[in-house]
Amino acid sequence: MSDEAVLREKAREALAVGRIPACSPQRTWGGRGAGVSCAVCGKRVGPEEVEFELEFGVLEEQARERTYHVHVRCFAAWEFERHRFQAQRDAGSSNETSHLPPASSGVEELHLLDGELWIDDRKLYPGDYNRAEPGTADRRVWSETGCTCVLITSGSDVIG
Ligand SMILES: [Zn+2]
Repeated sequence: MSDEAVLREKAREALAVGRIPACSPQRTWGGRGAGVSCAVCGKRVGPEEVEFELEFGVLEEQARERTYHVHVRCFAAWEFERHRFQAQRDAGSSNETSHLPPASSGVEELHLLDGELWIDDRKLYPGDYNRAEPGTADRRVWSETGCTCVLITSGSDVIG
């Protein structure tokens, strides 16, 4: 796998777990590394390297920090993947005015960790995320390679 493919995978993973937001940064600075871990690949951006510092004004619910440091190449991978990530997420919630999951039951969230998974004619790769609305459960889901995924189903009752 090329370096770029590896970084894209890391960017997808970072987006899927909320290590970095998918929205546009309010401000972006370029400069020498501040010695902070890269939000995409997790490696430290040293002063001998160039980094981007991203500041997010309006935080998504998954964002933990206001500013993120990323390598220039990781930034490019994130830029590429975040548009795809947003498109996928929006496709699953186009009828909603809120970006929060509805409180009603029956929503399934699927995070693919390993292998490949098909949902209808869409192929998911590790780090990809799929959200199924109620009533769409009879879609065709299969894997050619076998896969590892996390499926989160919201029940009508609170567990515990
Ligand atoms: Zn990096």
